[in-house]
Amino acid sequence: MHLPVRAEHAGIEPYGAPQLDVPVLLNVNENPYAPSPEVVATIAADVAAAAATLNRYPDRDFPGLRQDLADYLAGESGVRVAPEQVWAANGSNEVMLHLLQAFGGPGRTALSFAPTYSMYPEYARDTSTAWVTGRRETDFTLDPDAARAAIAEHAPSVILLASPNNPTGTALTRDVVEAVCEAALAVTPRGAEPGTSAVVVVDEAYGEFRRAGVPSALELLERYPNLAVSRTMSKAFALAGARVGYLAASTTLVDALRVVRLPYHLSAATQAVARAALKHSASLLAQVDALRAERDATVAWLRAQRPAALGGEPLQVADSDANFVLFGTFPDRHAVWQGLLDRGVLIRETGPDGWLRVSIGTPQEMTAFKDALVEVAGL
Ligand code: PMP
Repeated sequence: MHLPVRAEHAGIEPYGAPQLDVPVLLNVNENPYAPSPEVVATIAADVAAAAATLNRYPDRDFPGLRQDLADYLAGESGVRVAPEQVWAANGSNEVMLHLLQAFGGPGRTALSFAPTYSMYPEYARDTSTAWVTGRRETDFTLDPDAARAAIAEHAPSVILLASPNNPTGTALTRDVVEAVCEAALAVTPRGAEPGTSAVVVVDEAYGEFRRAGVPSALELLERYPNLAVSRTMSKAFALAGARVGYLAASTTLVDALRVVRLPYHLSAATQAVARAALKHSASLLAQVDALRAERDATVAWLRAQRPAALGGEPLQVADSDANFVLFGTFPDRHAVWQGLLDRGVLIRETGPDGWLRVSIGTPQEMTAFKDALVEVAGL
C-alpha cells in the first residue's frame, strides 16, 4: 500500500536541526537564559488562572494579548499600532504560514533573497506557492536595484525579507525596505486580481538584537498597507518553548489572516504565558543587551583569529544584528563542526559553502566555544 503523499512531499525529511544532548547548545539561536524565578512565578500564577477556564474555548481573537503586544512594540520601537493591527500565532513560523495561506497559493509566487531562512521555501511548498530567490551581495546585504529587478521579473504576491537575516545576521537598511515596498506596490502579482499589490513581509524575529541606530521596519507601517513586520517571543523573550510569534500590519492585511487561521488556534495557556512574560519585558530586554555585547565581543574575537587551517589568513565574519554569528570559510566545515561537537559544543552547519553559524550563549558557553574552536581550527 502506498499513501497518496503529495508529489512535492515525497521523500522529504521533516525540517529541523539535530536535537542532541550535549553540554553547550549553540545551534538554534535560542536565548541561553532560562526564565528567572520571578518570570516563572508570574507564568505559573497566570496559567493557573487560565487553567480554571479550560473547559471553554479560548478567546478566538485574543484582544488582551494583541493589546499587550501593541504596547510592547510601542515601547521597544516607538511605533504605536492599534491592537487590531496585531496578529499572533504559534511561533512566527505559523504567522508566516498564515501569510502564505492568505496571499500565496496555486499560480502565485513567493520571492526572497538567498541565503536566507530555510523555512521560507517550506511555507511556499505547503501552500502550493511557487518559490523563487534573488541573490544577496557577497557581504549579504541586498542591493535595492537588484531587489526591484527581481520583483519586476517574478511578479510575486509575497516577498519575504528577513532582517536581521538568518543565517547571516544582516539587517536591511531603511532605503532597501522602502525600495521593496514601493516596487511591491507597483507590481501586479502573477495569479492575483488586477489592481492588487504584492505583500512585503519583514521578518524581524531577531529585531531586538539589532545594533544601535538600525531602524525597525515598524517605522514604515504607516506608509505601506502592504507591509507586515513579524516578530517572535522565541528569541528576545527567551520563550521559544511557548511558541508565540506575532506581526504588525494594516488592519486590512490582518483581517485577511483571520480568514485562514484555524478557530481557537492560540490556546488559553499560550495566551496566558505570553501575557505573563510581557509583564516582564523590561528585565527580559536587559538580558538582550548582555547578549548583544557578547555577540559584538564574539565577532571581534573571531575577526582577530588567523586559523592555521586557512594558511594564516583571517576568518571572515559577517556583521551581525542578531543573536548569532556566521563565520568561515573553512575548506571542510563539516570537520570543524564535528570537532566542536566532539568537544561538547553544538553549532550549526548552515549558510553558503564553508560557513558555520554559532548562536550567542552565556559567557561560559562562549568560552567553551572559543576554546574548542582554537583546538579544532588551529587558531
Ligand atoms: N524567522 C527567522 C528568521 C528565524 O530564524 C526563526 C527561528 N529560527 C523564525 C522566524 C521562527 O521562529 P519561531 O517560530 O520560534 O517564532
